[in-house]
Amino acid sequence: MSITRHNWTKEEILDLYNKPLMELLYDAATIHREHHDPNTVQVSTLLSIKTGGCPEDCGYCPQAARYHTNVEGNDLMSVHQVKAQALRAKASGSSRVCMGAAWRNVKDGPEFDEVLEMVRTINKLDMEVCCTLGMITENQAHRLAEAGLYAYNHNLDSSEEYYKEVISTRGYQDRLDTIDNVRKTNVTVCSGGIIGMGEKSEDRAGMLVALSTLNPQPESVPINALVAVDGTPLEDQEPVSIWEMIRMVATTRIVMPETQVRLSAGRTEMSREGQAMCFFAGANSIFAGDKLLTTPNPDVNEDMEMFKLLGLNPQKPFIKKMQPETIEAADSQYEALGEKPKWTRPEHRIDRNEEAKLKAKEVLK
Ligand code: SF4
Repeated sequence: MSITRHNWTKEEILDLYNKPLMELLYDAATIHREHHDPNTVQVSTLLSIKTGGCPEDCGYCPQAARYHTNVEGNDLMSVHQVKAQALRAKASGSSRVCMGAAWRNVKDGPEFDEVLEMVRTINKLDMEVCCTLGMITENQAHRLAEAGLYAYNHNLDSSEEYYKEVISTRGYQDRLDTIDNVRKTNVTVCSGGIIGMGEKSEDRAGMLVALSTLNPQPESVPINALVAVDGTPLEDQEPVSIWEMIRMVATTRIVMPETQVRLSAGRTEMSREGQAMCFFAGANSIFAGDKLLTTPNPDVNEDMEMFKLLGLNPQKPFIKKMQPETIEAADSQYEALGEKPKWTRPEHRIDRNEEAKLKAKEVLK
């Protein structure tokens, strides 16, 4: 039985990533079988509860207000709308709803109170609830935990070195600090990244060092292939090949044996054969639903057909960890503190982000 190590080096991870493919696949599939049922795949539905208008400058993201993309912004959804979508997701086989809001960080106030109510509502439907709301403080993490949050997503995106080439409005340490705040509660951590942003293999390995040396390692690691959206700074990036995706999934599986490795953005570009190889290499989670926040994703019926073809079964909720209790707002031990944490704003210059911003201004003239 392989053990979970927290001292992986970049060189060791690169050696794995560059192994002859059949050896890499064999090693990853062996470890996968030691720690997981290879025929079970967890299915999450991603719901954009507040779309667009984000003040950040993430080079891959069509929701950043400064770029001109065809994303239509929406205010925060209502609890009622979220409940209806969660019920639909449950009926189609999802065990988890992940709610995403295009915020830099969470601010205490009526909108966050609404999100807490959404968490309570979905947990009462006996579904796992995940949120991805940007940076959060320890107190906000406790409030989410009390509401019944199962997981908090906060991606590291890439290596610390390459992160500076993609985002200038916050620092890598802010990401790690938010993960640390989540770890002070019983909420599980979901954190992964994106390949295909122009990074080198060394950066992919660097990201896996950052994730695998966390103790405990994240319970979920989404691996996204960049979906290059017109108007974003990364609009001209060539798609990553399926072989890079398979190598990334297999390497992630080996260095984080217990985690759920999630095939995330970019699945519309993958054949069923390619996805099957990713499952063989250790992926055991997908995002379902025809949209991933704002980018396309395979239809849920197509996914269920693929599951049937491959003999895969959707995982039931709360298999890895017990369902958290929901504490009602009136009984909460953690009140809103109205904190104003000093999250970093490095604001270094990223030429392609600046160019995309200028282009957007031209279009809107
Ligand atoms: S990835 Fe998140 S933080 Fe970055 S611009 Fe998009 S919505 Fe904002």
